[in-house]
Amino acid sequence: MSYEQVEVPENGEKVTYDEEADELRVPENPIIPILHGDGIGNEVGPAAQKVLTAAAEATGHDVAWMEVYAGETAREKYDENLPDATVDAIRDHRVAIKGPLTTPVGAGFRSLNVALRQTLDLYANVRPTYYLDGVPSPMKSPEEMDMVTFRENTEDVYAGIEWEAGSDEAEQVRDFVEDEMDFDGVMHDGPIGLGLKPISEKGSKRLVREAIDYAIENDRDKVTLVHKGNIMKFTEGQFGDWGMEVADEEYPDDEVFAAPDSLWEEQDEVDIPEDAVMVEERLADAMLQWMQLRTDEFDVLAMPNLNGDYLSDAAGAQIGGLGVAPGANFGKGRCLAEPVHGSSPKNAGLNKANPTALILSGRLLFEYMGWEDAGQLIRDAVEETISSGEVTYDLERQIEGGEKLSTTEYADAVVDRIEELA
Ligand code: NAD
Repeated sequence: MSYEQVEVPENGEKVTYDEEADELRVPENPIIPILHGDGIGNEVGPAAQKVLTAAAEATGHDVAWMEVYAGETAREKYDENLPDATVDAIRDHRVAIKGPLTTPVGAGFRSLNVALRQTLDLYANVRPTYYLDGVPSPMKSPEEMDMVTFRENTEDVYAGIEWEAGSDEAEQVRDFVEDEMDFDGVMHDGPIGLGLKPISEKGSKRLVREAIDYAIENDRDKVTLVHKGNIMKFTEGQFGDWGMEVADEEYPDDEVFAAPDSLWEEQDEVDIPEDAVMVEERLADAMLQWMQLRTDEFDVLAMPNLNGDYLSDAAGAQIGGLGVAPGANFGKGRCLAEPVHGSSPKNAGLNKANPTALILSGRLLFEYMGWEDAGQLIRDAVEETISSGEVTYDLERQIEGGEKLSTTEYADAVVDRIEELA
């Protein structure tokens, strides 16, 4: 595989994946593709890279970064949005980290993020949401939040199967649905935009399996399947049914307990085998309420794509906002880490955005590679920096007596903490 115009570092080796053993093989000096991203990505990207390098070195590891391009930088360099070289490099190296990419609203521009997730079959978007000491939050007890969301990443209304209002295709689909499928009178007359919501058995089950396996491996008590199956029975409802089937049929009862009728009945009285992970269902609208009112009752959440997008941003707000909310996309033997936030064009070029979300996304990547020591050091250093009041503008304006640092100054402060703690 060649990556024309991409500089492959000579001092690094590829991470590989042993499919039979389902194990990642990480060399001493792994090559990690890094895509800084658009807008604030140009600032938080290099800042996070500096912090991650420091944490890796402080724990005896060595990263050979390989810069790859998409979005604005790729348009300048290759005159295209998502060059094959970038996709191939990320695919071939198994692990990568990316900053945000801009998706202009309107026709004719598919989201690069969605394209990357689909092309590489990164089917689970995982977002741990936990409170960092010192971060200002709108909640009375933000420390109650310690949740991990698993968002299906390849289908649902985000699959991109949609037709523009007024197009021949939209009219063809309307005719088919009205005439052949017997839905006459449901859609309004006049121009109409249409989309499909595919939810498959394969997509649903593999996502729920990931969430349950994560809960077992990390000693979590509960997996909550979040959907809107009371209204969208054959898509969201089916997601819930398939998810409960995984819980019920693929694991022994003393390991995973599929709670019956959890959508409609409180589970307090249910007799759950000791140490078993309980799998339950919740409706998405109610879940947004429970997440705020009974934060500490939730643990691991698994849900279709759109619910996951909304819910993980809302969860991020409870622990201080997008500036500190990390994430990563996982496929079979691969991980692409990326923060929850976007390219925030209004803050771009000002050296003020918060790189914490991208730094903590890097922590997820390192932990996936088995570098738990580096991951813990990153968390400790970030937490110490923030709780000492050295923060970027987004947090400084919400706390008393904080010191407002630029993106680069904040990254330097975290690197100093890493060196002190190591
Ligand atoms: P956004 O996340 O870029 O910004 C929303 C607001 O959150 C900002 O105005 C800012 O106040 C705050 N914010 C976000 N990140 C921050 C940070 N690191 N530090 C401090 N404050 C921060 O969302 P948007 O404005 O809706 O989207 C802008 C662009 O980003 C769009 O083109 C969108 O499609 C894209 N986007 C990309 C990704 C991705 O690459 N994965 C994710 C979301 C949005």
